[in-house]
Amino acid sequence: MQTPRLLALDDDPEITEIIAAVASEAGFDVRTTNDHIAFSKALTSFEPTVITLDLNMPSVDGFQLTRILAEQKTTARTILVSGVDTRVIHTASKFISESGVTLAGVIRKPFSISELRQKLHEIKRGTADLSPDDLRAALRGGELRVYYQPKIAVGSHLVGERAGRKPRSPDIEARIVGAEALVRWAHPDRGLLLPDAFIELAEHSRLMVPLTAFVLRSSLEAIVGWRQHGAEFPVSVNLSATLLYDEKLPERLTKLVHDFGLKPADIVLEITEDAAMGDVKTAMEILSRFRLKGFGLSMDDFGTGYTSLRELYRMPFNEIKIDRSFLEDMDETQEARTIVRSITNLAHDLGLSVCAEGVETTEALKAINEIGCDTAQGFLAGRPAPAHEITKTILLRNAAGRKAPYCNLVWVRESS
Ligand code: C2E
Ligand code: MG
Ligand code: MG
Repeated sequence: MQTPRLLALDDDPEITEIIAAVASEAGFDVRTTNDHIAFSKALTSFEPTVITLDLNMPSVDGFQLTRILAEQKTTARTILVSGVDTRVIHTASKFISESGVTLAGVIRKPFSISELRQKLHEIKRGTADLSPDDLRAALRGGELRVYYQPKIAVGSHLVGERAGRKPRSPDIEARIVGAEALVRWAHPDRGLLLPDAFIELAEHSRLMVPLTAFVLRSSLEAIVGWRQHGAEFPVSVNLSATLLYDEKLPERLTKLVHDFGLKPADIVLEITEDAAMGDVKTAMEILSRFRLKGFGLSMDDFGTGYTSLRELYRMPFNEIKIDRSFLEDMDETQEARTIVRSITNLAHDLGLSVCAEGVETTEALKAINEIGCDTAQGFLAGRPAPAHEITKTILLRNAAGRKAPYCNLVWVRESS
């Protein structure tokens, strides 16, 4: 993907500086300007894909600027950043759209950094125009899906060369010891959307509760289904930070699990480091209650946040998942390997189980086996797939006479 280019125009240098910092962090190439002549030149020399436009410049107004954009036939998506009153913004937005310029949104001054950051991320993903109503309708209309990615026991893999096998598909099998539930949106026009495209939207529109409830119910149904085929393993469900402050959640979840005839231990709740480190006191209380009830607790994407060892020790997790960025780097740098080793040793000393995320190759599997990670998740063991695909894997392995559910590595493929 090409790096998106953002051009920011505002007469206040402090504002362009902030926009530049946030946009660079979001992965944009950034150019800023404080006057409209330089802006006009940059439109042709820099060819921005996104523009932030101050409606109220001293020597030129938003309408004149829009004419410049229209004349230059820019295809950039334009965000209005303005402190003028709502009616003027409304008129300007209409004028912009009617001039053939793509309006990607309005940010009202004074704006918060997180609001700007969210808008830029949405634009980068090309999903800026998905609205809370779209997601609400998708939830009601059954457009959300849950895919499952197998988690395998490291060291349980059996390697064998069967005659006639293509070199690309080695005969490697590993025991499935869990699966992670990952939500997808089967959008009628845009195909299968990954969580990156709509999780933040859910967070900001209070749809995280129904979304998570849907993922949980689907996971419990999947567990019951797999059991009927003789395969028993827990499913990990991602829990957003916004849910960690709902004091009734542990009781409600326990009841839900029992309604399906299952136990809390059949569900592992994955929480990212940052989520757990927000309001530590409340989060800790809720997490502890989950643990007491018997749910598994996993710290997701470990190594990307700022958890101190002391906090990790105090938090009631029983697993950490090492972020996949370390696995990606492991082939190239000795440091990444050292980090994975140190995290693993530390976690083991604290009595935590270690899952390596993003295991894509047999080399990576061998490396984490040698380091001593307990479980692995990644494209090697299987891409996220609908529950029935996992069932097929289980049936296939059962037919081969195995008692425990095994998956043939590189077997499960992500499909829509
Ligand atoms: P996560 O919880 O860290 O999930 C692992 C992500 O890594 C998944 O991306 C998975 O498809 C991807 N992955 C797994 N193995 C590999 C590999 O070998 N290579 C590479 N390159 N990627 C791999 P996905 O499904 O796009 O999910 C992204 C994130 O969205 C998740 O990260 C999680 O934070 C969030 N998410 C997904 N489902 C839910 C949900 O139901 N609720 C909440 N709150 N967040 C969710
Ligand atoms: Mg996760
Ligand atoms: Mg993760």
